[in-house]
Amino acid sequence: MASVKLENITRKFNSSAAIENISFEVPDGEFWVLVGPSGCGKSTILRTIAGLETATSGNLYIGDVLVNNIPARQRDVAMVFQNYALYPHMTVAQNLAFGLQMRKFDGKKIQKRVEKVARSLDIFHLLDRKPKQLSGGQQQRVALGRAIAREPQVFLLDEPLSNLDAQLRDDTRAELKELHHRVGITTIYVTHDQVEAMTLADQIVILNQGKIQQIGAPQSIYARPTNRMVATFLGSPPMNILPTTYQDGWLRVGEQFIACPPSFKDKLKLNDGQQLDLGIRPENIEIIEPQPVRESQEDEAKLVVDVKVVEPLGREILVRVAVPQTGVVMNIQAPANWRGNVGDRIYVKLDLNQLFIFNITTGETIY
Ligand code: ATP
Repeated sequence: MASVKLENITRKFNSSAAIENISFEVPDGEFWVLVGPSGCGKSTILRTIAGLETATSGNLYIGDVLVNNIPARQRDVAMVFQNYALYPHMTVAQNLAFGLQMRKFDGKKIQKRVEKVARSLDIFHLLDRKPKQLSGGQQQRVALGRAIAREPQVFLLDEPLSNLDAQLRDDTRAELKELHHRVGITTIYVTHDQVEAMTLADQIVILNQGKIQQIGAPQSIYARPTNRMVATFLGSPPMNILPTTYQDGWLRVGEQFIACPPSFKDKLKLNDGQQLDLGIRPENIEIIEPQPVRESQEDEAKLVVDVKVVEPLGREILVRVAVPQTGVVMNIQAPANWRGNVGDRIYVKLDLNQLFIFNITTGETIY
């Protein structure tokens, strides 16, 4: 096992940078997830670590070794792609053994290792089958097994679950996490799925347009996003964003006003009169029973909204509401026993401790 360190890695195609000044260090044995929207450069980073792509500039270390000029096959990393790429004419056992044969391991050792890996991934009973006789999930496990059998220093996984259906994806995700606990190989995992990122990662690296936006533990990024992109990327349904203007201790949303607590006022003094974005997660909005509108109090943030869509999800109800004069439709997570209908005008209370304020232009988190 080994750590992986990237130092100012840039990769340009023609003159445009697919990734720019990427620096992070994955400590030995940790599970890190690179996440971001399509085209943000995740695969380019992974392929650069694997040696399938050459950095235009920067340094890459595996353990203490500078590997910039070391070819892929000598880097002792194993990469699993989303399409598994199993050898169709070989059995599962032969697929698992192939990498070891190429490395000239002796027959007994190969057999032992193949059996051990097959048992740990619950594919022992499939060893004599060919890939086309396997389900998607089983093929996926064989692909992982082939990589594990080599006992690489580093494991690189590029969207390995994206071809699986939802149930199988959940199961395999849980297996992968358990497997990592057991085997403890340094793992770098690429996905555009924020649920996978949140559930699997020791640390998440959030990317956008070839640049790192934030690195941190899942919960801490969720609680303290550095900018609007990160805030809206993590969380499902995503954080609601409302256009607002700060004026003299009040946040104006459409024609409505939210009274700011003192801590806000200090932070937002410099932004008086400015247009800003207000962020609030669906779980931090409470629907309060319809009641006469009264003046907002210092400790309350209420809005009048119109119910547009009601989606019962079993454990809760997702309510989509239009915020008058803003053009924004917000998501709210309501309890399963909430009774309301499309067309209702309702009152919602925003949790003032969970409000975010972003710079409208840079997206930077102000509060
Ligand atoms: P996805 O989630 O869609 O796979 P990604 O985050 O993995 O995306 P990359 O595949 O790393 O993104 O691509 C990053 C950027 O680099 C994209 O704009 C892509 O078009 C560009 N790119 C990648 N490979 C090449 C190449 N060989 N030639 C030119 N441009 C490339």
